[in-house]
Amino acid sequence: MASIPNEFIESLLDRIDIHDVVGARVQLKKAGKDYSGLCPFHAENTPSFTVSQQKQFYHCFGCGKNGSAIGFLMEYEGLDFIDAIKDLAQLAGMQVPSIDNYAGQKPKTNLFAVTEKTTRIFQQQLKTSPQIIEYLKNRGLCGQTCKTFQLGYALNEWDALLKRFDQSEHDLLKRTGLSTQNDQQHTYDKFRNRLMFPIHDKRGRVIAFGGRAVEAEQKPKYLNSPETDLFHKSNELYGLHLARKHSNESFILVVEGYMDVIALHEHGVKNSVATLGTATSAQHISNLFKVWDRIVFCFDGDSAGIQAAEKALSTALPLYLDNKIIDFLFLPQGEDPDSFIMKNGKESFDLKVDQATPLSDFLLQVISKGINTKSIDGKAQLHEKAKPYLNQLPKGAFKKMMTQQISQVSGMMLSIKDQPKSQQSEVKPVTENPFRKLISLLLNSPHFCKNIPNDLNLHKLSFKGVEIIDKIVEIQRHNPQINAAAMLEHFRDSDYSPYLGQLMRMYDHLDDAEKALEFADIISYLQQLNSKAEIERLRNKQMESGLNSAEKQSLVQLLRQKTNQ
Ligand SMILES: [Zn+2]
Repeated sequence: MASIPNEFIESLLDRIDIHDVVGARVQLKKAGKDYSGLCPFHAENTPSFTVSQQKQFYHCFGCGKNGSAIGFLMEYEGLDFIDAIKDLAQLAGMQVPSIDNYAGQKPKTNLFAVTEKTTRIFQQQLKTSPQIIEYLKNRGLCGQTCKTFQLGYALNEWDALLKRFDQSEHDLLKRTGLSTQNDQQHTYDKFRNRLMFPIHDKRGRVIAFGGRAVEAEQKPKYLNSPETDLFHKSNELYGLHLARKHSNESFILVVEGYMDVIALHEHGVKNSVATLGTATSAQHISNLFKVWDRIVFCFDGDSAGIQAAEKALSTALPLYLDNKIIDFLFLPQGEDPDSFIMKNGKESFDLKVDQATPLSDFLLQVISKGINTKSIDGKAQLHEKAKPYLNQLPKGAFKKMMTQQISQVSGMMLSIKDQPKSQQSEVKPVTENPFRKLISLLLNSPHFCKNIPNDLNLHKLSFKGVEIIDKIVEIQRHNPQINAAAMLEHFRDSDYSPYLGQLMRMYDHLDDAEKALEFADIISYLQQLNSKAEIERLRNKQMESGLNSAEKQSLVQLLRQKTNQ
């Protein structure tokens, strides 16, 4: 997104020293290889704010805020990204490349004009469809609510919308995802015979649409606009522009569908938003925490709902600060907020919200699932299973409390910091999510990238985060000298940004030589996994269709390596 080229940002971060930038605003004291001071972003009496010159990175162990010198200026001075860059460039005596030249993006104003006009067209067409009006009435929605959410109808024709726009605007229609092309280059309307839900950005501008099928046999039931210049679904939440008007409410509800948001609104619950067919992202959570201090995730009580809740939990853990609250609301099996509030009314729903499961309880449930915590074996299992979860929590009272609670149940003391190297090499390299560790090491020491063996195919392993590793490797290839803070800046606009900030300090207790050893351990573990997967693939193929001679040779070689390990 940045309209300033990455190369400029990299050389800027190379030129300035974060110690100067922070030190001019916060009193810093040398503490070991880093500096520490009182955090300017939360009230504290003992310093938990650190600045690392080596990484060019600041981090607060109290409130979790972290970032480069750019991020610090933005947070401290309330600047936007471009202005923070300008300030730093002045400090470094550098000339910011003309921003207009780097705008690079076509103006979005025309696109908004198209989405707004389309919204009006769909709204008018709704009046012509008795079937849809009947459907909305049956769902208990009044005319005013339909108007508030700007509900509409896309006609059952291939070019009804195209025909409403001038030929010269057809390219814009395509860029908003409202029209699409088949293999024969024939252009037609993306949404046909659907109840239409405009999706707004937080300022209330229409950026995309969701369409619900009208006929039972129509597939898919829900169709969303594709990703476009206006619409990045993992950043956006349905209904946020309306919910923001209720920022005085003590919490925000996160539900799963547009109809849930609308039905809740109809019944007077106006502080809800929905994810747009994606899991809750870190970006979603941090955006919501800027407005509300409590998030209530609402899920269906069936197994898919629980699974989605577990996913939300693991996204939320690194962002869970002591002054924020996250709760999980599970509705009875088969119910969603829409059906629940229609049957039971607002009071019952409010009661459910009051009784929502706190994150701490849900976390305990997830950790102890399938484990008999009464048995000695079970206690040991619990202890092991808890570690990666607790490691993700930012330092603070909540983390302490959870650690104590699990230590009590398991009867073992949990040490949450990673084990010192000497013990770790005796144990096996820890197998729990090696990608997180790899990412942390590569961010800290980008030069490790060149030591990833060519024949190690990380894409074959089923861990999340391979795309992050790919990106880090590519960035390092373009700039082999890049430092940790500049590396992190490349991810500023990605969903991973808060997560990566947290990962930066995973190996703070190790020196460079120890980090190199840890890196080698992880690589060798991943190589073992890689060959295991390849052996399995070849064996399966052998059973099914037989192997050619090259494959046979490779299998023998892999098996031989395995016995040598
Ligand atoms: Zn702080």
